[in-house]
Amino acid sequence: MKLDNVRLDSVHLETTLVRAAAEPDPSTAAVAPPIHLATTFEHPADGEESQGHIYIRESNPTQSRLEEALAASEGGAAAFFCASGMAAGTILLQSLEDGAHVLFPDDVYHGFREAVQSLMPRWGLTATFVDMTDLDEVRRALRPETRLLWAESPSNPLLKIADLEALTGIAHEHGAEIVVDSTFATPVLQRPLELGADFVLHSATKYMGGHSDVQGGVLVLRESDRLAELLHIRLVGGAAASPFNAWLVLRGLRSMVCRVERHAANALAVAEALEGHPGIEQVYYPGLAKHPGHAIARRQMKAFGGMVSLAIAGGREAAIRVASRVRLFTNATSLGGVESLVEHRASYEGKVSTTPQNLLRLSIGLEHPEDLIADLRQALD
Ligand code: PLP
Repeated sequence: MKLDNVRLDSVHLETTLVRAAAEPDPSTAAVAPPIHLATTFEHPADGEESQGHIYIRESNPTQSRLEEALAASEGGAAAFFCASGMAAGTILLQSLEDGAHVLFPDDVYHGFREAVQSLMPRWGLTATFVDMTDLDEVRRALRPETRLLWAESPSNPLLKIADLEALTGIAHEHGAEIVVDSTFATPVLQRPLELGADFVLHSATKYMGGHSDVQGGVLVLRESDRLAELLHIRLVGGAAASPFNAWLVLRGLRSMVCRVERHAANALAVAEALEGHPGIEQVYYPGLAKHPGHAIARRQMKAFGGMVSLAIAGGREAAIRVASRVRLFTNATSLGGVESLVEHRASYEGKVSTTPQNLLRLSIGLEHPEDLIADLRQALD
């Protein structure tokens, strides 16, 4: 992939994210990219496409720009954008052959747990939940028909760290593919394709958009051989996103390195400040030396991300009390926006939840960390 005469794989990620697919609009010389809302594109009478696009659900110019930048952001051969992170994941699952078996982390994002339980059986797929941090358990769970290993690291909401290189080795030895849900890490902090993974999944609704105002999903592919099949499922299943959403995510990518580095620095400050607080049983954050995945996180991540979970002393009621007392944090689900959020996770996850009842999940925003720490301390005291 090239930018004028500069190869994007020869420059730093900051440069790639600002410059990929950033050529001025050829018809107006506008520096900011246009949003093409057109649903249909003129073609010659024989139905052949004339300029690369025919119908919005198949492709559109704003989304194609974003997809070029997304592929570059992870160093992949190709990428596609779709309506949500859930859509990106379920498109991958739907591409598996009838009878395929998938290994999922036992604390996989609860939306995918729901998909495993209520959708996969209808698609002729089976699944096993395993502790992805226990490589022997992963090996034991493999079956002849295992076609996909699903890793999520750091995981939501327990912040478990999976050894992505080791899991990739296990998957490939078995002849299976591996996808890494890298939503919490973003391409800024973790590079699964460089560790050999076949696919990287992101909920673009989080750090890529970065402002809690857009929904989208991304799958980046190390090789492009499965791209046509996946795009076919997006087209026929109709999980395409709106061009406006593609434009917002593209805008988010331009500043993502600065934002994510600051989210991670703030989260580390919060985690360190709260460790040992008498109102907290455990701080879950991979940047803390006590975290069981700390050594692996140091090896495979540039920093430890913007998410922190807290097990509050005193159980569910105490946790909800703390969440109700914060002044700066907003009680809301989701993550990755500029504003700090707190959430009693088990309440939100509902029936499929396996999250401890005393757990609060924090999405650490871009406010000053001292203000965030003071707010949490007054809520805990
Ligand atoms: N993966 C992870 C780790 C998530 O946290 C989420 C959403 O919170 C998703 C996937 C699903 O993304 P979306 O809400 O964009 O469908």
